[in-house]
Amino acid sequence: MVDPDCLFCKIVEGEVPAEIVREGERTVAFRDINPQAPTHVLVIPREHHPDVASASAGDTGLMDVLAREAHEVAVAEGIAETGYRLVFNTGAGAGQTVFHLHGHLLGGRGLNWPPG
Ligand code: 5GP
Ligand code: ZN
Repeated sequence: MVDPDCLFCKIVEGEVPAEIVREGERTVAFRDINPQAPTHVLVIPREHHPDVASASAGDTGLMDVLAREAHEVAVAEGIAETGYRLVFNTGAGAGQTVFHLHGHLLGGRGLNWPPG
């Protein structure tokens, strides 16, 4: 399912350019346009799901695939050993601005906890 008004669906379809670092059967990973760390990659499903709740309710296994793909990107980026963070902002109150499910893979610098 593709939402014609969704920015990330357009990236999946190649209608909006992005620096893609990995493609899977069900996923695409590309660099965030406004990186918050030396490595900041967004890992998204090809299929449109607005958020974690929708994806995990309707499609068992998708969150697993996203986590696995994110880890493979972390290995390729050389941050799997030093540590990385995988974040799914869910809802406007948590900072979600693009309502096509995406995991932020962040690493390459020290990351504070708790996040802001
Ligand atoms: P959210 O705030 O929804 O968790 O994350 C959305 C992310 O998408 C932000 O980190 C933002 O920088 C990134 N982003 C927004 N528009 C674009 C774009 O056109 N291309 C890319 N590569 N990233 C984008
Ligand atoms: Zn979408």
